[in-house]
Amino acid sequence: MEKRIFNFSAGPAVLPLPVLEQAQRELLVYPGAGASILEISHRSKTFEAVLQQAKDNIRALLQLPDTYKILFCQGGASLQFTMVAMNLLRGDKADYIHTGSWAAKAIEEGKRQGTVHIAWNGKPENFVRVPRSEELQCSADAVYLHFTSNETIQGIEFPEEPASGDVPLVCDASSDFLSRPIAVEKYGLIYAGAQKNVGPAGVAVVIIRDDLLERSAPDLPPLLSYRTLAEHDSLYNTPPCFAIYIIALVTQWLRDSMGGLTGIAEHNRRKAALLYDVIDQSGGFYRGHAQPSSRSLMNVTFRLPNEELEATFVKEAKSRGLDGLKGHRSVGGCRASIYNAMPYEGCVALAEFMKEFQRKNG
Ligand SMILES: *Cc1c(COP(=O)(O)O)cnc(C)c1O
Repeated sequence: MEKRIFNFSAGPAVLPLPVLEQAQRELLVYPGAGASILEISHRSKTFEAVLQQAKDNIRALLQLPDTYKILFCQGGASLQFTMVAMNLLRGDKADYIHTGSWAAKAIEEGKRQGTVHIAWNGKPENFVRVPRSEELQCSADAVYLHFTSNETIQGIEFPEEPASGDVPLVCDASSDFLSRPIAVEKYGLIYAGAQKNVGPAGVAVVIIRDDLLERSAPDLPPLLSYRTLAEHDSLYNTPPCFAIYIIALVTQWLRDSMGGLTGIAEHNRRKAALLYDVIDQSGGFYRGHAQPSSRSLMNVTFRLPNEELEATFVKEAKSRGLDGLKGHRSVGGCRASIYNAMPYEGCVALAEFMKEFQRKNG
């Protein structure tokens, strides 16, 4: 077998090794099923238990009250940009916080379904930070306030939820879902494409509060309707069974091995600090994109003195088994994605490499 590298890819991204090992052990015969999880009916008792385990784990990790439903949708987080607006906006007005590339996409889709009011726009500052709550210009008549808790491309993250008063928060949490405790009761809806932090591509987790579910438009095509998906417990049609199975394993790993969200948050803080410390102590050789108070604990974005050095950095890192460090094509630079499953040792190795690279090229 070839050696596993440290994978800093932004998504699909690193998964916990114990999860991959368990999936490997169970691939041919899922315990009790006599067949692979890939081969059995989504209506079987076995798969129903897997689905239930995934939901129970997410509920336990977030300490989610009974007034919220957990759904598994297809179409990625991108379809959620549309579904949120189709189900909840529908000709009304919603506030959106514009923090970067993913917020921009959500806004675009919102505009197709109703009036979008930009409560704060980070573009003039080139998306280097998230707003402080007192900077938000919220509308009293908004049906929700949409924000992107972590901008995967720019590497900025809300340290806490924006204040929205009585207006329900709707959050694209794709790239920091289950990475830390959140004040869950502030949210009306949370969605996350699984492939950043909780599983493989092909499924998005949606958490929706009952009153928003009630309000969701009744006349939509079934697969675009939260109401229909909830009524059928995400089994209106064949769901992405394997992806849901992996989510069940990843969330079990978070509970059993990582100390839940408090434990993983501490782990994530320590990992990110290793890299930000190197940036801060480099005398300007590495320049972080994010302002310190908005730094992402999931995606560390930085520049080197010039693009040639950035290319050399990415290439040499790769030859050392540190892969996926090229920044998103739309912004350039470098990016280290260090989601829940990135081991501490991976960040130590990258921090050491960064220091060495500076010594040679600085
Ligand atoms: C990756 C990402 C998306 C898009 O996810 P898809 O599953 O590819 O549609 C949306 N929002 C954020 C914050 C992301 O990181």
